[in-house]
Amino acid sequence: MTLLHRFDIHQPASASEASQMLAGYGDAAGVYAGGTELLLAMKHDALQYDHLIDVKVIPGLDSIELHDGRMEIGATATHRSIERSALVREHQPVLAELESQVANVRVRATGTLGGNLCFAEPHSDPATLLLVLEATVTAEGPGGIREIPIDKLIAGAYTNTLMPHEILTKIVVPCARPDQRAAYVKFQVHERPALGLGLWLETPDDGRTLTRARVALGCVCPFPSRAPGAEKLLTGALVDAEQRLPQAADTIADAADLSDDHEGSSEYKRHLIHVFLRRAWHKALHNKVTAQ
Ligand SMILES: Cc1cc2nc3c(=O)[nH]c(=O)nc-3n(C[C@H](O)[C@H](O)[C@H](O)COP(=O)(O)OP(=O)(O)OC[C@H]3O[C@@H](n4cnc5c(N)ncnc54)[C@H](O)[C@@H]3O)c2cc1C
Repeated sequence: MTLLHRFDIHQPASASEASQMLAGYGDAAGVYAGGTELLLAMKHDALQYDHLIDVKVIPGLDSIELHDGRMEIGATATHRSIERSALVREHQPVLAELESQVANVRVRATGTLGGNLCFAEPHSDPATLLLVLEATVTAEGPGGIREIPIDKLIAGAYTNTLMPHEILTKIVVPCARPDQRAAYVKFQVHERPALGLGLWLETPDDGRTLTRARVALGCVCPFPSRAPGAEKLLTGALVDAEQRLPQAADTIADAADLSDDHEGSSEYKRHLIHVFLRRAWHKALHNKVTAQ
C-alpha cells in the first residue's frame, strides 16, 4: 500500500496570509482544499509537499453571494454546497444541475469548485459549462487581486495559469436572464466523464430566433474550449440553425483535434459529439431559466 509522506498543515486566516505562507515555504508548499485530488497525487508521488496550506479554514472563502447580477462563489465552496444552494438553483440552475452530477456524494461533499478548476484534470465537468456562461475567476497573490476570464485559467492538462504563490479566491458566474437558455450534457461510463458539452443560447423571442450561441467541449481534449465556428452556425432562425446541427457538430469535432485512445477512436468521439450536441440543443431549449 502506498503511504503519504509526512507533512505539516498550516491554517491561514486570509487569502493574503495563505499567499505569504506559500511564498515563505517555496516549492515545499502546496495549496490544500478538499484534498480529493491532491492527497491522491501525493500518495502516488506525483506531487510532493512538506507543507500544505489549508485554504478551507479561511473565513468566507466558501460563501455563495449575489452581487450586481452575478453570483460570487468562493473557491472553497464544495460541489455539494453549490448543488444545494438556493441562490445557484434560482439564478443559474444549469450549474446546480451539473454539480449534482459530479462524481459521487462523498467527493462532492469534500471536493471544491476551486480545487477542480485549479487541478485542471481533463476529465472534469465545471470548466466546460463555465466557459459558455462566460464566468471569470479572481485570484489573490503577491501582485494583489486580479480577475481572470475562465478561458484564460486553464492552459492544458493539469496546468493552470495562476502565478507563483497565487490563490484562487472566487468564481464569478453571470446570472441567467429570461432570454437565455443553457444546458450541460455528458457521457460517462467510468469514474470520470469521457465527454462534456456546454451550450448557451440567447433567444429574445422565446425560441424562434437565436441571436447568440456559445458551445464548449471538454474531456475528449486536454482542456475544454469554445468552438466559435460552430457558434456562428447555431445562430439565426431556429429552424435553420437546427438543420445546421450536424455541420456544427463536425466543426466542433474538427476544432477539438480528436485522437484515437483507450476511450475510443476519433470517429467514435465525433459520433458522440453529434449525439450530445443534439441532446444539449433540445435540453437547452426546454430548460427553464429559473428553478421552479
Ligand atoms: C472518485 C472521483 C470521481 C470524480 N469524478 C468527477 C466528475 O465526474 N466530474 C468532475 O468534474 N470531477 C470529478 N472528480 C474531481 C473532483 O471534482 C475534484 O477532485 C475536486 O473538485 C477537487 O477539489 P479539492 O478541493 O478536493 O482539490 P484539492 O485536491 O485540495 O486540490 C487540487 C489541486 O488544486 C490546487 N488548489 C486547490 N484549491 C486551490 C485554490 N483555492 N487556489 C489555488 N490552488 C488550489 C491544489 O494545490 C491541488 O493542486 C472526481 C474525483 C474523484 C476522486
